[in-house]
Amino acid sequence: MFQDLSSKLDDAFQKLKGESKITDVNIAETVREIRRALLDADVNYEVAKEFTNDIKERAMGEDVLSAVNPGQQFTKVVHDELTQILGQERVDLSVAHTPPTVILIAGLQGSGKTTFSAKLAKYLKEENNRNPILAAADVYRPAAINQLKTLADTIDTPVYSIDQKDAVRVAKEAVAMAKSLALDTVIIDTAGRMHVDEKMMNEVAEIKEAVQPDETLFIVDSMTGQDAVNTAKEFNETINYDGVVLTKLDGDTRGGAALSIKNVVQKPIKFVSTGEKLDALSPFYPERMSQRILG
Ligand code: GDP
Repeated sequence: MFQDLSSKLDDAFQKLKGESKITDVNIAETVREIRRALLDADVNYEVAKEFTNDIKERAMGEDVLSAVNPGQQFTKVVHDELTQILGQERVDLSVAHTPPTVILIAGLQGSGKTTFSAKLAKYLKEENNRNPILAAADVYRPAAINQLKTLADTIDTPVYSIDQKDAVRVAKEAVAMAKSLALDTVIIDTAGRMHVDEKMMNEVAEIKEAVQPDETLFIVDSMTGQDAVNTAKEFNETINYDGVVLTKLDGDTRGGAALSIKNVVQKPIKFVSTGEKLDALSPFYPERMSQRILG
C-alpha cells in the first residue's frame, strides 16, 4: 500500500539522518522533498502545502534541533501530522437508539458499493453480533440485485428487493421488514452512475429523506486519485454523508485520495476495503495507517 510514497519519505528521512548536523537548512530541504513526494502521490495541492508548512513550523519551533536524536524526533513530527490529516481518531458507525439502525450506501457505479454492503453485513454480524438485512435499492440493474443476493447468500443474510424501479419504496419497505422481523440493522445499497449526475443525487437524497438513516456512507474507489476527492466533495454537498469508505486500496493506488479526503470534505474515513473477497474490509484507524505509510 502506497509503496512509492513510503519509499520516498523513507529516502528523505535517511538523508536527513545522514547529515553530520541537523540544521534549519537541511530540515527545510527535507520538507521540500516530503512535499514533492506527497504531490507525486497525487495528494491535493492545498493539503500537501498545509501539511508541509505545519511540519516545518513544528520541526523548527519545537525540540527537533535540540532533541537527543533530531532525526527520530523529526520522523515523529511527520508521523503525528500524517495521523492528523488522516483524521486523528477512529470514528465508529452510529447506532440507532431504537433499532433498526439504518445505513445508507452511496457512490458512483463501480466504486464497490454492492461489495461493501455485503462486507459490512458480514462485519457487523461477526464483530458486533448484529442481524442485518440488505436492501437492493439499485433498482435499475438486475445484475446489481443478483450480485447482492449472491453475496448475501454466502453470509446467510436476507435481501429485500421488489420488481419495480422504485428505490425509495425498497428502502422504506426494507426498514419496515427489519422492524417486523426484529432485525437490528438495514444496509441500503443504492444505484450509482459513471459520473455525478442530478438524477442519481436526487434519488439518494430522496431515499435519505424517506428513511432518515443513522449513517450515510460514501464509497469511493481510491484508484481514481483526485477524481475521488472531487466526487467526495460533490456528494457531500448534496447528501451530507457521515463517513467515507475507501475501496481498492489493494490496487496500485498512490495514496492521494486517502491522504486528502478527510481534509477536503471534513468527514472521517470509517472503513477501507482491500480486495474483492468479503473479509477484505478493515475499520479505519488514522494512527495505524500513518504507521504503515512510514514503515
Ligand atoms: P458498485 O457498482 O459500486 O456496486 O461496485 P461493485 O461492488 O459491483 O464493485 C465493482 C468491482 O470492483 C467488482 O468487480 C468488485 O469485485 C470490485 N471491488 C470492490 N471492492 C474492491 C476492493 O476493495 N478491491 C478490489 N481489488 N476490487 C474491489
